[in-house]
Amino acid sequence: MNQQCAVYPGSFDPPTNGHLDILLRATQLFPKVIVAVTDNQNKNPSFTLEERLTMLRTTTSKMHNIKVDSFSGLLVDYVQQSRASVIIRGLRAVSDFEYEFQMALMNRRLNRSVITVFLMPDESYTYLSSSVVREVARHGGSLRGLVHPSVEKKLKKLYRIPSHPIG
Ligand code: ADP
Repeated sequence: MNQQCAVYPGSFDPPTNGHLDILLRATQLFPKVIVAVTDNQNKNPSFTLEERLTMLRTTTSKMHNIKVDSFSGLLVDYVQQSRASVIIRGLRAVSDFEYEFQMALMNRRLNRSVITVFLMPDESYTYLSSSVVREVARHGGSLRGLVHPSVEKKLKKLYRIPSHPIG
């Protein structure tokens, strides 16, 4: 397995600046990072897999050594198929810890050679999540500084919010 390649998996529904913060940090640690979008329909995503891939490709277009891909099935299998050896996950607050700890230990049990690395975002993103972003967008609130402008556009389209508020 390639110690130089890391996989950053997630729903990215939609990608936020918190995701990008983690991704940037990951690229400082690993020469190659694969952003892997989960095709898990159980999560009932607001955006299709194709839309999430497109948003990620647009938002990371200026970043180097990043590949945007999708996967289904077991994450550790995808990591192995990609010839990677590291899983990147973000930790915002203690509330993330229990779930992430459980997943990391299960993944280790499934494949002992895959290592999970947790990274913390800038403190200004610790409250940021895709679901909060969707909620703000649904009610027409500003997302400036929280998501890439192309993602904000997509959210406005999804919730039929006019780009330029009347009046
Ligand atoms: P998942 O459904 O796999 O949790 P998400 O897209 O919600 O997918 O999150 C993917 C990863 O990015 C997770 O490790 C999550 O903790 C992390 N993450 C999401 N938002 C932020 C943020 N604002 N700051 C740091 N990490 C984040």
